Amino acid sequence: MPDCLFCAIAAGTIPAAEVLATDGVLAFRDISPQAPTHVLVIPREHYPDVAALAAGDAALLHEIITQAHQAAVAEGISDSGYRVVFNTGRDGGQEVAHVHAHVLGGRSLRWPPG
Ligand code: AMP
Ligand code: ZN
Repeated sequence: MPDCLFCAIAAGTIPAAEVLATDGVLAFRDISPQAPTHVLVIPREHYPDVAALAAGDAALLHEIITQAHQAAVAEGISDSGYRVVFNTGRDGGQEVAHVHAHVLGGRSLRWPPG
């Protein structure tokens, strides 16, 4: 997809701090981390959001979730726990229209706090 930031990262034309890579999926550190560990997991193929991915390629969505866990293992937060988030649309706070799972951890993310 022309002018898509995450397509460019998947293609290697824009650099990113890679955590893991498979044939279908890439995981890299978020440039503006919201937790001690904040990794993004994207499909190499362009889908605008998680609903489009679920409708278009369920196996690839499965791979995103599997690799989100593998990224948590690689970052050492799989035992302490982590959150996987797909921001979707305007009110969901989605800024990049290439589906991505946020993997957040390294501190308590309980809500409400306590
Ligand atoms: P969202 O708001 O859910 O669309 O998330 C987009 C995320 O992409 C934000 O958390 C940004 O900090 C992150 N981001 C934007 N540009 C880059 C980049 N070049 N490398 C890594 N993460 C980025
Ligand atoms: Zn894209």
